[in-house]
Amino acid sequence: MVEHLQHYGVISSKKVAEVMEAVDRALFVPDGSPPYLDSPMSIGYNATISAPHMHATCLQLLEENLQPGMRALDIGSGTGYLTACFALMVGPQGHAVGVEHIPELVSSSIQNIEKSAAASLLKEGSLQVHVGDGRLGWPELAPYDAIHVGAAAPEIPQPLIDQLKPGGRMVIPVGNIFQDLKVVDKNLDGSVSVRSETSVRYVPLTTRDAQLRNY
Ligand code: SAH
Repeated sequence: MVEHLQHYGVISSKKVAEVMEAVDRALFVPDGSPPYLDSPMSIGYNATISAPHMHATCLQLLEENLQPGMRALDIGSGTGYLTACFALMVGPQGHAVGVEHIPELVSSSIQNIEKSAAASLLKEGSLQVHVGDGRLGWPELAPYDAIHVGAAAPEIPQPLIDQLKPGGRMVIPVGNIFQDLKVVDKNLDGSVSVRSETSVRYVPLTTRDAQLRNY
């Protein structure tokens, strides 16, 4: 899978290739789903695990903000795959925090991570996954060098901008039916620059009730 993504130019970073090879996607997709197919897959609760090329794209956009010792926040952490990748990148001195609003997904993501290369980081506490409304971020460990949002927001939630460190970067899909993957950089003076990377299709960042009613 990783070689395929390298061949097609999606992965150019050696570090991202190493981390995606280390975190075996087969541990994170539901039983019976083809783990290495470059496609999103249903994980129940009207949620999906993103396609490998989207995980790779987001890891690369955030790579400089996922250096050892840095802090990363993964909103809508779902299966925990990307949270585990973040944890390996920031290492035992850093923090990788997942926030997901479906408690059952938080439990299963913890079980997935326990089988993965990130298990020791979870045990030691540098990797955490919490049940919560991701639109509020996770203030306890703010500010973050990197924030990833795995569900599309109608607009960028202000608490997430507030919890970004100066010099930090957030990657977030924004929009309803038509969405752009936005790259939000907080400058050292606290001002914010936003650009669109590409068009995407994510499930909505919404309330738990709306999601379970299928929006
Ligand atoms: N990045 C994850 C999951 C992506 S699907 C992966 O690849 O496995 C988007 C996830 O966002 C779903 O698990 C959904 O339950 C969650 N989500 C949607 N709205 C949310 C909110 N307000 N707070 C927290 N999680 C939310």
